[in-house]
Amino acid sequence: MQAVFFSLLFSIFLPACTAEGNKTNHPEKSSSTEMVQQPTNPYYSRTDTSHLNVSDAEWKKVLPEDVYYISRQAGTERAFTGEYWDFEGTGTYYCRACGNALFKSDAKFASSCGWPSFYKTIRPNSVRYEEDRSFGMVRTEVLCGRCDGHLGHIFDDGPPPTYKRFCMNSIVLEFEPDNK
Ligand code: FE
Repeated sequence: MQAVFFSLLFSIFLPACTAEGNKTNHPEKSSSTEMVQQPTNPYYSRTDTSHLNVSDAEWKKVLPEDVYYISRQAGTERAFTGEYWDFEGTGTYYCRACGNALFKSDAKFASSCGWPSFYKTIRPNSVRYEEDRSFGMVRTEVLCGRCDGHLGHIFDDGPPPTYKRFCMNSIVLEFEPDNK
C-alpha cells in the first residue's frame, strides 16, 4: 500500500518538477528570443530597411534588458559565453533589436576570440562605423545600419577575401536557419 502511495505521488509531482527545471535552466536564451519577437517591439521588422530614430527611453521600454545593455549602452558580452561564438548553422543573422539583416552564415569563420566573427556583411549598408576611443584604445565600432545599435567592433585580422573580422556580440544577433 505504501509503495502504491509513493508511486502515485511521484507520478503526480515529478513531471511538474522536471518542467520547472527545464524552464529555469535556460532563462536568458528564452527571454531574449521570445521578448523581441513579441509585438511589444514595434520597431522590429525583417522587411523594412528604413532608418529608425527611436529615443533611448523608448528602446529601454521595448528591448529585453540584456539586448538593451549591448545595443544601446555599447556593452560587451563575456567571451566564450554567447549563443553563437562557436555556432555553425546555415542561415542569416539579424539585428535582435530591429530585425535588420546583417550577415550570412557563409561569411562566418571560426575565430579563437570567443565572439561570433564574420568577414563581410550581407549588404554594404547593413552596418555603419564609428571611431571608438574608449578604454584607452582606438577601435572601429560597428553599429546596425537601421537602428544604430551597437553590435561590436571590426578588426583587420580576418581571413581573405576581405581580411576583416567583424567581432560581434551574440546577444544582439538573431539567427534564422535557411531551411526553416
Ligand atoms: Fe538594428
